[in-house]
Amino acid sequence: MSGTLFIVAAPSGAGKTSLVKALIERERDLCLSVSYTSRPPRPTEQDGVHYHFVSRGVFELMIARGEFFEHAVVHGDYKGTSRAVVEQTIAQGRDVLLEIDWQGARQARAQVPGAVSLFILPPSRKELERRLRARASDSEAVIRRRLADSREDMAHAHEFDYIVINDAFEDALAEMRAVVAAQRLKSGNQVKRHAALLSDLLKAD
Ligand code: 5GP
Repeated sequence: MSGTLFIVAAPSGAGKTSLVKALIERERDLCLSVSYTSRPPRPTEQDGVHYHFVSRGVFELMIARGEFFEHAVVHGDYKGTSRAVVEQTIAQGRDVLLEIDWQGARQARAQVPGAVSLFILPPSRKELERRLRARASDSEAVIRRRLADSREDMAHAHEFDYIVINDAFEDALAEMRAVVAAQRLKSGNQVKRHAALLSDLLKAD
């Protein structure tokens, strides 16, 4: 029995975190992997909930021990996914979702060819900029930097299986749920999930 690995990436300001939160709340059996990072926690963030916060030294030790399924330097800090969590969850037949950047998505796809990847785009540059300005008390320089970074991120959208445009939140969420549903309805997955039903239906009278 093996679950599906879902990968979601987006530039900052596209609304990925809110969409993923809503998706996880609505989809049973979809587990969100909590990443490790060497970045210090923000005031609103909790260890073990938003990230597992570790020092650079510990992160590098974990890299050396092969404990990451994927890892990358994102905005100057290490970010990575626990290999044990991904492998154990999938082996139990449960679906797991990684909210990671395009570099990590490449590494994940290379290891799990059946992974399903989604990239979330904003509806326009103007709206992306508006969202970045609205949510942060960041300086103009930081906002400019984020906009430049987002352009680099979005240049990788075509590497993903699906692209969702987050214009209206509920529509984007429905599209993400449609991708999850389609994957689960694939005959290969249904045959495994409903093995007992199938064998009963095919029983000779
Ligand atoms: P933050 O604003 O939390 O510092 O950074 C968010 C960025 O880091 C997003 O692009 C997000 O996808 C990426 N990210 C978060 N966790 C991981 C991870 O485990 N691996 C990789 N490769 N990227 C991650």
